[in-house]
Amino acid sequence: MSDTIEKLKCLIIGSGPAGYTAAIYASRANMAPVLYQGEQPGGQLTTTNDVENFPGYPDGVTGPEMMIQLQKQAERFGTDVRHGWITKVDFSGDIHKVWVNDEKEIHAQTVIISTGASAKYLGLPSEQKYLQLGGGVSACAVCDGFFYRNQEVVIVGAGDSACEEAHYLSKLCKKVTMLVRRDEFRASKIMAQRVINTKNIEILYNTETDEVLGDGHVVTGVRAFNNQTNEKFVIEATGFFVAIGHKPNTDIFKGYLDLDETGYIINAVPGTSKTNVEGVFVSGDAADHVYRQAITAAGTGCMAALDAERYLAAKDSDFEVATSTYN
Ligand code: NDP
Repeated sequence: MSDTIEKLKCLIIGSGPAGYTAAIYASRANMAPVLYQGEQPGGQLTTTNDVENFPGYPDGVTGPEMMIQLQKQAERFGTDVRHGWITKVDFSGDIHKVWVNDEKEIHAQTVIISTGASAKYLGLPSEQKYLQLGGGVSACAVCDGFFYRNQEVVIVGAGDSACEEAHYLSKLCKKVTMLVRRDEFRASKIMAQRVINTKNIEILYNTETDEVLGDGHVVTGVRAFNNQTNEKFVIEATGFFVAIGHKPNTDIFKGYLDLDETGYIINAVPGTSKTNVEGVFVSGDAADHVYRQAITAAGTGCMAALDAERYLAAKDSDFEVATSTYN
């Protein structure tokens, strides 16, 4: 353990659009933020190829490029961006204690959590191969569906997300085959019924994925199997969408922050970024299981920095609110 404790006005945990946007606002507001990037610098967007729905990029931008630009913008105003993984927190007192890589101890007046969520995948080697290649495996229909216009795709899952995404894809694609592992949906009746009523969605119940098929570069189909009969069959498809849920990256906050049953952080005051602990704010997918978009994450990152600034202004008489915040 390091014996020198670093004291900060503002610590930001996570480096997706939420974290970097919070950093841009916090650094412009004289909060001298330090941002720890976490295990996957840039967050979920670094696994996406083209981002075409973020306003301001008429020709689109790759996820990794956008994250590099956001980092540069945050650093331009003085954010200290660091590699490192937050392994432990103690939010029991007025000063929020955080440990980096189990070693370095930080005491922060405000903490902005932007740790995001991770899409769950099946874990099949073939799925991971084409995911890494950017060759047709995706966990976000809204992000990637457009690339499969007039094509045939497969989607796995039977919850509300899968239904919403299958319906979204059905408007773009020629055909959507939905693989449901049980003989019924988990989704709400209304969402399931909408999928059942959509002509170009074929639902295969009791069906699981055996292998994602491809030509070494891109997906060409899926070998599925009926888990009642063990019959295997091939579905031709150029896209393989996985919609089996997300896991928010919030395990280290258990016991301090109010979480819902899936682990999403609950906003203590709806419409703000406040958590149940004063001085700890949340932005992005760590608290959002509904929208999960880069632009909504960025918006809540801005909110978290403004809420943190107001908290500091009320708490710390030495802290001067920067006029630049609102420019
Ligand atoms: P859920 O956990 O609700 O559903 C996950 C689905 O994936 C289940 O049907 C599950 O099957 C299936 N699944 C899990 N693992 C596998 C696997 N290995 N192989 C095949 N299938 C698998 O997650 P969602 O993301 O759909 O929803 C999360 C929360 O967000 C829910 O509370 C939901 O209501 C909410 N939500 C609300 C929306 C809305 O109201 N507009 C939109 C999206 C989400 P099984 O059923 O067999 O367990």
